[in-house]
Amino acid sequence: MRPADAPERLDDGAFEIDLGEGVWAQRTITSGDLPYGLITTHRCTNSPTGWRQGSLAFDLPHNSGASTKWQGHFDDPITLSPSIQHNCGCPLSHGYIRDGKWVRG
Ligand SMILES: [Zn+2]
Repeated sequence: MRPADAPERLDDGAFEIDLGEGVWAQRTITSGDLPYGLITTHRCTNSPTGWRQGSLAFDLPHNSGASTKWQGHFDDPITLSPSIQHNCGCPLSHGYIRDGKWVRG
């Protein structure tokens, strides 16, 4: 669910999956309507806006163009490997998605 203090530029979809800890994920699809990966959104103490987003691709055969791909369980609850690293350095910049929850790395 969308947090009350979310900025307008982030649409409701960004908060599709609440991973807890101040991290959310949104599923993305390919132009052919196949699963692609996730956009992650987190509350970021190192961002001027207070929020930061990243994206990742699932390791699926049709995602051959993605240079880095995550393996795991892509249906709910999502579990991904390896961990996810954002370049912001805030307390939520590194972690894992396990059983649909954000686990700090
Ligand atoms: Zn951050």
